[in-house]
Amino acid sequence: MPYEALMPRLVDCVARIASGIARKAPSEECPSLPKIAVEAVELVANRLAPQAAPSLYCALCSRGPYTRKGYYLHLKRVHGNDIKEEISSEIKRLEQVYRGHLE
Ligand SMILES: [Zn+2]
Repeated sequence: MPYEALMPRLVDCVARIASGIARKAPSEECPSLPKIAVEAVELVANRLAPQAAPSLYCALCSRGPYTRKGYYLHLKRVHGNDIKEEISSEIKRLEQVYRGHLE
């Protein structure tokens, strides 16, 4: 899995952004990460953002409603592995896209 060592931080960034407790732009919310990882985090976080804010229902399992903080904790505790896999496959996909542009 690419970026394995960074995964705990990346999952945390996704959960913060998706739940809306992040106050800054993704690149500032997760500083000093490779650009491709930040992009993957943004894409996955957008997918996991709950549909009907301010009543937050989980985008993956429809449980809820949660507060922002509650949704953040739910994502990390219940869907940590799903998020990890999504980030990982998103990074792989982006790497191929970039490679295609360079050739
Ligand atoms: Zn859920």
